[in-house]
Amino acid sequence: MWNKEKKNGFWKKLQQLQQPRKAIYVFSEECTGCRRCTQICRHRVLSMVAVNDKIYATACRQERCSQCGKCIVICPVRAIKLVKIINND
Ligand code: SF4
Ligand code: SF4
Repeated sequence: MWNKEKKNGFWKKLQQLQQPRKAIYVFSEECTGCRRCTQICRHRVLSMVAVNDKIYATACRQERCSQCGKCIVICPVRAIKLVKIINND
């Protein structure tokens, strides 16, 4: 039988394993706002946002991302990268 401490440890470890280690990141300075990435992403992870006069893509719904890499490949200016998450806090 598992005691409470062992159970808590198990769930904590499981949660850590289930959290994504990588995430799609858009480097907004590079983005030209062409919208190719938002059109190709079938999970609708990416959205266009407007800040002051500039429109660029951003990954609003990371939890939906399958990390297929299509947006990375289609971006003409290489503004999208799969980055490593170093802290989930
Ligand atoms: S990696 Fe795939 S699922 Fe994730 S944002 Fe890019 S196109 Fe969408
Ligand atoms: S494909 Fe690249 S340049 Fe075009 S909107 Fe997406 S991130 Fe910006």
